[in-house]
Amino acid sequence: MSMKRSFKNLIIVALIAAGCSTVPLTGRKQLHLVSNEEVLTSSFSQYDEYIKTAPISKDKQKTDMVVKVGKRIAAAVEQYMKSNGMESRIREFQWEFHLVADATPNAFCMPGGKIVVYEGILPYTQDETGLAVVLGHEVAHAVAEHSNERMSQQLVVALGGEALNATVTNKSELVKEFAPVIYGLGSQLAVMLPYSRAHESEADHIGLIFMAMAGYDPSMAGKFWLRMSQSGSKTPEFLSTHPSDHTRAEKIRSWLPEAMKYYRPVF
Ligand SMILES: [Zn+2]
Repeated sequence: MSMKRSFKNLIIVALIAAGCSTVPLTGRKQLHLVSNEEVLTSSFSQYDEYIKTAPISKDKQKTDMVVKVGKRIAAAVEQYMKSNGMESRIREFQWEFHLVADATPNAFCMPGGKIVVYEGILPYTQDETGLAVVLGHEVAHAVAEHSNERMSQQLVVALGGEALNATVTNKSELVKEFAPVIYGLGSQLAVMLPYSRAHESEADHIGLIFMAMAGYDPSMAGKFWLRMSQSGSKTPEFLSTHPSDHTRAEKIRSWLPEAMKYYRPVF
């Protein structure tokens, strides 16, 4: 191994050691090399740009339902994070909930709590509880900082290649360089890029607990995922990289006893 190469590896090891965090609830260690401030600044401006031209739903009743369920989940998550010493993880969040007139069965949450639900998913969610499955899952991606982790992994890949040397000391430059990886390729919103299967599974797990914390019965989640799997559509966020329907159903069943511990019905 050359000197240059071992030095490079040393830097990477040091970076990784300095840049780890722990995912709430699952306790998984994750890479965290990019500051949340940088991720959220970029996320918020992307979201604002998207919302400016998005076909906002004219259905007031359905919009109210999205906002209501979203706010309940956000409030439950905030309370949990505060009482467990993890509020710094969501301190910079600026929750926002929008319903858009798009027939695709889809939803997404950008870093920092910027949530979009498509009208096309409502026939599958059917009621507030079904919507809580979707929003719990989306909020889980944001709270678990999956975008930050994906970006950090991209940085490591890049550092393992050519882009080492002085750039390492200037992470914000690197963030600018790699922002397109996270925040969009061309006109494509980055949030539309599929998460890894591991991230999807973790969002299912944490989302189940979040919906329970907000007072929605997590034992109803399996029914929603079954309806989605029968829809036959392949939307980016919901089906492409997801575990097979069978695996997902099994996992959801296995997490249910844990989620039920957080469930306090409020109806
Ligand atoms: Zn997801």
